[in-house]
Amino acid sequence: VKRSKKSGRTEIYQTRAFDAARRQFGIETELRRAIDAGALELYMQPICDLATGRVTSFEALSRWTNERGQAISPVDFIPVAEEAGLIVPLGRWAINQAARTLAGWDAARGGNCGVNVAVNLSAIQLQRDNVAAVVEQALADHGLDGRRLTLELTESAIVADPDGVSVAIRALKDLGTTLAMDDFGTGYSNLAYLQRLPIDVLKIDRSFVSGMLADRDKVAIVRAILGLAQALGMQTTAEGIETPELAQTLAALGCGYGQGFLYSKPLPADQALRLLSLLNA
Ligand code: C2E
Ligand code: MG
Ligand code: MG
Ligand code: MG
Repeated sequence: VKRSKKSGRTEIYQTRAFDAARRQFGIETELRRAIDAGALELYMQPICDLATGRVTSFEALSRWTNERGQAISPVDFIPVAEEAGLIVPLGRWAINQAARTLAGWDAARGGNCGVNVAVNLSAIQLQRDNVAAVVEQALADHGLDGRRLTLELTESAIVADPDGVSVAIRALKDLGTTLAMDDFGTGYSNLAYLQRLPIDVLKIDRSFVSGMLADRDKVAIVRAILGLAQALGMQTTAEGIETPELAQTLAALGCGYGQGFLYSKPLPADQALRLLSLLNA
């Protein structure tokens, strides 16, 4: 940080803003190259039936290792992709890669491998791309039934463009896909959309789940979400389950499914298939 005697504060601010812009531009350029080169990977994290422990699906999570071998978190590169307009090609890649992976698993198992795959959709991707057409093409290319795919969206998508998103969601439902509301309870949306939109699953955000056993307020929030889901006929998946006690408590409260390090971290696709063979043997 440079300091000038005349206008120290402004210059510090400008230097920082410039650094941030340069850093972001660096990430952007490299991310663009990585997408073009097919250098992103799609990791898979199991989602389990809390009552039986069986794997019912996997969430597909993007992973990026940059040119210097550093792993960049999607928490950092997804927002850059959104700002730079790269979320459309990245999102298309994720949908296609998820379908390719699932078809590969079916082939390895000599038939339907018995799970579905959930892909995250960004609010901006939903606004800018025809996601249903992309999904339809990916299903056709890989010979998959729409019921094998789940799409996860966030409340921010609904806030950004309620009418547009409702059209997109209906088109996705017409393909037979499952729709999940991700990070439920952390967005700034009113709840009326739950009545209007054909949402199948509420995913309870990790911030309510982790530490829940020692926090009555979190338990109250989780109970309320489970009650709401049950009343509206929706399934529930709890994120961030790291201990057997949490899995048991959530099952006892009526949560159907769970995801978290207790079961597995996100894994490369070949390892995920091996885990599936073990857990669903
Ligand atoms: P998300 O969709 O809510 O995904 C769940 C995140 O929680 C993942 O982080 C996962 O690794 C993490 N997680 C799962 N179980 C546990 C646990 O027991 N403990 C802890 N501490 N964490 C757990 P990840 O992979 O870093 O992804 C972060 C977010 O980035 C995702 O949150 C999603 O919003 C976004 N994201 C990742 N891949 C994509 C993508 O392909 N497209 C879009 N649009 N967003 C993506
Ligand atoms: Mg998700
Ligand atoms: Mg989530
Ligand atoms: Mg989350």
